[in-house]
This record gives sequence, C-alpha cells and structure tokens, in this order.
Amino acid sequence: MISRRLLALWRRYREGERASIHPPEAWNISVLLVFPNVYSVGVSNLGFQTVFKILNKTPGVSCDLLYLPDEEAIPSLEEGQELCSFYLERTPREFDIILFSISFENDLINIVKILKLAGIPPLSSDRDENSPLIMGGGIVPSSNPEPFAPIFDAIYLGEAEEMLPKVIADFEGVSKKAYLEKISKIPCIYVPHLVETENIGGFIIPKVQKVRNRWRDFKKLSNASYIISNYSLFKNAFIVEVSRGCPRKCKFCLSSHVYSPVRFVESKALEALLNEAPTEKVGFLGTSVSDHRGLPELVKKYSGRLTFSFSSLRIDAPDELFQALINSGAKTLTFGIEAATERLRKAIGKPLDDELIFQRIKELSPHFPNLKLYFMVGLPGEKEEDIDAFSSFIKRVGECFEGRISLSISPFVPKPMTPFERVPFEDLSSLKSKIRAIRKAASGIKRVSVNYELPKWSQVQALISRGDRRVGLYFASAIKSIDKGVYLEALEVETLPWDFLRKAESLNL
Ligand code: SF4
Repeated sequence: MISRRLLALWRRYREGERASIHPPEAWNISVLLVFPNVYSVGVSNLGFQTVFKILNKTPGVSCDLLYLPDEEAIPSLEEGQELCSFYLERTPREFDIILFSISFENDLINIVKILKLAGIPPLSSDRDENSPLIMGGGIVPSSNPEPFAPIFDAIYLGEAEEMLPKVIADFEGVSKKAYLEKISKIPCIYVPHLVETENIGGFIIPKVQKVRNRWRDFKKLSNASYIISNYSLFKNAFIVEVSRGCPRKCKFCLSSHVYSPVRFVESKALEALLNEAPTEKVGFLGTSVSDHRGLPELVKKYSGRLTFSFSSLRIDAPDELFQALINSGAKTLTFGIEAATERLRKAIGKPLDDELIFQRIKELSPHFPNLKLYFMVGLPGEKEEDIDAFSSFIKRVGECFEGRISLSISPFVPKPMTPFERVPFEDLSSLKSKIRAIRKAASGIKRVSVNYELPKWSQVQALISRGDRRVGLYFASAIKSIDKGVYLEALEVETLPWDFLRKAESLNL
C-alpha cells in the first residue's frame, strides 16, 4: 500500500506548482528522476528541471520525479508502506531506470535511504535483472564518481543535455547486462563494475582511461524553469540560467573548476526568455551572474515590466545589478566573503579588499533590512590572527550596516579537481574552537547572529568528496569501518581516485 502521508505531501506540493512539462502516460522506457533531497531544494534546481524536460521530450520516454520525502512521511515508509513517484504515483520498482541527480556530497546518505525505502538493495552487486537500472549524475559524481561506484550501475559524467537522451533511448529492448556493456563504450558513461581497481597508497583506484566529462556549448540556448512553485527557494520566480562556470576560479570552488570552460548565455537568448516570462519575478541563476557583460543592460531594459533577483552577486558586481535587486524588493543582501583578512582571501584566490567590502555594505545598508555573510574556517594557510580578525571585522560591518547581520560559518572542505584537492580537512576540535571564537567575537553586537554548519557533517562531506569505493561501501553500511585519516589528512599519494577523469581529458578522449 502506498503511504497516504506521502500521497498527501505530493498532492500539497503539486497544488503549489505551475508545471509546463508532465510525464507522458504511455512509454517504451520509463525513468524515475530522483533528487535526493527535499522538494523545496529539488524544485529550485534548474539542472534537475532541465533533465526532466529533455527526457520527457525524448521519443518513447516518460520521466517522472521523486524527492526525498519530508520527515512527516518517513515513519509510514519505515513501517513498510510504499514510496511513490511525484506525478504518476507509481512505486520506484515499476520504473525501468532510476536516475539520481546529485548536487551535494552528503546526499549519498539520502540515496541509500531512498533505495532502502523503495525496497531496492543499495549495492549494485546485490541487484539482479529484475531490479530497475540505477544511474547517477550531477556535479558531485562528475568531480569524483568513486564513492558512488558501489551503488550505481552506471554514472553519467558531465552535463546532461547532449548525450543523456541517447543514452536512455539505448535501453529499449535490451537486457540490463547488454545495455551496460553497450553504454560503457560511450566516453561520458562510467560503468564501475566493468572496471578493475588496484590499491595504491591505501586508496582503491580504478584502472580506467576512457571516460570523460561532457560539457555543452549553450551560448544560444539558455535554460529556464519548467516548474514554478510556491515552495521553491526562489518563491514563484521564473529562473533563467545565464552562465556555467566562473572565470574567477577561487582555489576552493568546485563549480568553477568542474564547469569548465566558462560559458555565458548570449543576451539575445536571454531576451527571448524574458519576453515570454510567465511571471513578473525573474531569478538569474549561474555561478558568475556578476560577470555577464550584457546583464546590466538587460535589467535596465526590462525593469518596470519584470523584477529581478540573483542566485548570487559578488560584492564587486556592477551597480546596475544591485539597483535591480533593490527594485525587486529583496530584503536580504548576501555575500560570500570567505575569510576575515585580506591576506587569507588572497591566499585562497578570492582577493577582495576590506575597503571595497565595507564601502559596498555601507552604500547598500539603507536599502536592505538583512545582511548575510558567508565565511569558512579551517582554510589552507589560515593562522590564529585570521580568526582573531573576526572581532574587528564584525565590529566594522556593524558600523556600516544598520539592519540585522547574520554570519554563516562553514568548515572548509577540500574538493576534488580544485587546487586544494590534496590539503587536509582540519580536525573537529580545532574547527569547533574556531567557531566558538567567532561566536564570542559576535556576541557583543545585538544585531549580529552566527549560524554554522556542524563540523561533523562537514567531515562527512570531506570523506565523500575525496572518497574511494570503500567510502561508498561504508555509507551504504556494507562495511563497518574505514580509516577516516586516509581521506581527511593531506593526500600525499601519487594517484588520486578521481585522477582518471583528468587523464582522459588530457588524452582528449
Ligand atoms: S567568485 Fe564565486 S563562483 Fe566564482 S570561483 Fe569564486 S567562489 Fe566560485
């Protein structure tokens, strides 16, 4: 029996949606596209929506969605009631292919949870021909697929647009085994169980050279929302993608190093989307919105007809973009500052001057009641004085900004494919004491609040980020323990689990 609580939850979310794409009710191949996090996060993800659209436009394919059920529905599922898809209300086991879209490392834990709730063994080695084929893709496995290798039958590397429809269409009329052998020959498809591994310096390393990420030239073909939802983090806004990648390439930033080369959508393509915007609210999305040369002109041209928000604006973004944000009635100004000293910001590749930061915050203070600043602790090259500097930094922000100020602190997590991929993840007690020091520094100013990510969860993120197949087995509860130090300390081994992606790119495969 399908969980009534889950059905009620999905119906509530569907009532808050305007969707221009629905899964066809007849198909040759049925795909369940899963976002392994809750609805509000998944429906806000334009990449996820784009895959939903391109699969439903593929002849013979019907693609339905699934999100991680909210806590309110979990007890009924754990008692044995069935999970079901979002639109057609079918159980996951009824689909031919289950495809996970992964944006966050810790979603590996949710993937295992969803498979178990669906009655599907989480490890590929425990599944047979009768089980749906389980695939994964997204920025996280595209930067290091290895922790996902024991779970997925196949992993799609890179951006979905070009190859995914063909890869899925190839499933028609063949056995799972024959299909996996066939698609394993496509360069952006990685079939982990067909690849031998070797132990090098304590890491399980795949012996593979033929896979590579696949990136799309989308200058003229921007993406925009196909589902607009009340419950989205962008609250009923029409989301338009303006860029992929970021030319700044801060040394810690995964998306700027994985989404390469940097691509900006041409202004003409953006105009075409703005002319057809189904809502007055438009959200521009991209890792380098602030660097799009045509955006200031576009927001000027459409202001009055449309209001604009931005997935992120750098503090040195053009004035016109901040004016557009003021006009939109946005209440919160958000910046990634990362470190409290100029020296450390420079060392991590984000060289923002103190004067620029404080001057911009002061200019914008009259227009926004809230200011949110993001920082990291445990950064490579961080010294005691960088933590001590929070005290004067917070005081100065308090002098420049009159409204409420919130500081969001995250432990730094080294990411694969970035210049910091080999640096250590700091130990938990040191991270906790740095966070404590920042909270104390902020405690003297009433308008300032500090929230932070628990270091133990950042440690899980670091394990998955730089993990190998053993890490996947550990989080799938197939092995009881791992030597965490192997993955968290400075990586001095010559070969890393994800190096094969780089090798294949240099061979131009
Ligand atoms: S400016 Fe932002 S998006 Fe660009 S590289 Fe730096 S952190 Fe990443």
